[in-house]
Amino acid sequence: MDDDKTKKMTSYKKTTINNHPLKPESMMMSYGYNPKFSEGSVKPPVFLTSTFVFDSAEDGEEFFHVTSGRKPRASTDDLGGLIYSRFNHPNVEIVEDRIAVLEGAESCVAFASGMGAISTVLLSLLRPGDNIVYSSPLYGGTEVLIRKMMPEFGVKTHCFTDGLDGDGMLEAMRAAAKDGPLKLVFIETPANPTNAMVDFEALLDAVDTIEKETGHRPVTACDNTMLGPQFQRAVPQGIDLSVYSVTKYLGGHSDLVAGAVCGSYDSLGPIRSLRGAMGFNLDPHTSWMISRSLETVTIRMERAADSGRKVAAWIDENPYIKAKLHHPEYKTHGNYQDVYKRQCTGPGSTFSFVVDAPKTDVFKFINALQLFKSAVSLGGSESLICHPASTTHSGVPDDARAAVGVTDGLVRLSIGLEHPDDLIADLDQAFRHAFGASQKDAA
Ligand SMILES: *Cc1c(COP(=O)(O)O)cnc(C)c1O
Repeated sequence: MDDDKTKKMTSYKKTTINNHPLKPESMMMSYGYNPKFSEGSVKPPVFLTSTFVFDSAEDGEEFFHVTSGRKPRASTDDLGGLIYSRFNHPNVEIVEDRIAVLEGAESCVAFASGMGAISTVLLSLLRPGDNIVYSSPLYGGTEVLIRKMMPEFGVKTHCFTDGLDGDGMLEAMRAAAKDGPLKLVFIETPANPTNAMVDFEALLDAVDTIEKETGHRPVTACDNTMLGPQFQRAVPQGIDLSVYSVTKYLGGHSDLVAGAVCGSYDSLGPIRSLRGAMGFNLDPHTSWMISRSLETVTIRMERAADSGRKVAAWIDENPYIKAKLHHPEYKTHGNYQDVYKRQCTGPGSTFSFVVDAPKTDVFKFINALQLFKSAVSLGGSESLICHPASTTHSGVPDDARAAVGVTDGLVRLSIGLEHPDDLIADLDQAFRHAFGASQKDAA
């Protein structure tokens, strides 16, 4: 009887049927939620409560010991019991369990935003005098946080711009390690808006070398928002922490803001503690919306990537103007294609292209679109268009922008779930309107 009860209580974390391992997409409908605890409700309720009743005073004491890390947890499933919604609550635990499954990581910690996740990683690992190495370009908010704000906390920053060049990455790490303890290597790959890549293997080789030379191994963290978890899993490829803006593909409907960090349970310990101390936890309602989004993330990302390929092919061959594509399957810089094939399983659906046209014509094109919406952000169900030089990257100095190719002729697309033929029809009429009598005909 007791055995039966235990079996039912743990069956909500099913990973296999007999010996058949379940695919992550099958686990998104059930993993981490036990209907027995909620009147048999097929879907989890939204637990709108700030605090949780302890069965006994002893339980309260035990939960605090485990949650604060003073006492080791009883099992890998044991997160220490529910205490207070700033530390934990059922809806966020469901989301964390499921994102960890998608990433192929042991554990996950969710946050109120992607920047909340990134700042907690930085603040949990870096102290005055420490050094960070980062890849450039990064998401604008991250670049400002690292470049401008971390030095105000006494942290020294060093960057590299070519993530395909292992020697260059090692040089940046050596320069940082000379300056004081190198604690963190933070990368974003592919990077927004050019889809520039960092080679995980080359990066980890450089980290191995630095560990041998200095006796200290920096933590590696990858912002995996652009392709993960469907087309790139960073943790199974050896990166310590995989960071997400859940606002993008995981949320997937442009209706919420959230973040997450995946990694081993132990590596997430300080990050989980700091989240509770700072008050960056994700709320129950948003968590519930994400648990709904995760049920469709695989089909959404697959479909959007297929449509993105069709749109990219049309842009490549369009009859109006020569357009250089920054789509992962069109880039030829160095060993880009080898790295792409080794560490990614698909191109995602966010990419950019560059036309040789004045900003007025590029704006004319954007304004003529009828189905694409002109907005920042990406990874939603609707297709978006963005002009990075005048919006997301307008705060980056001209020369730094030019160095990574963010020019007035660069336009970024996030392909959503509309029919690709309709998206192409929209691009066709807007290209004709803006670039109809252009140099491609003349050339
Ligand atoms: C949007 C984004 C972020 C920031 O996430 P928020 O959820 O907006 O805080 C970080 N990194 C990348 C790559 C992003 O696209």
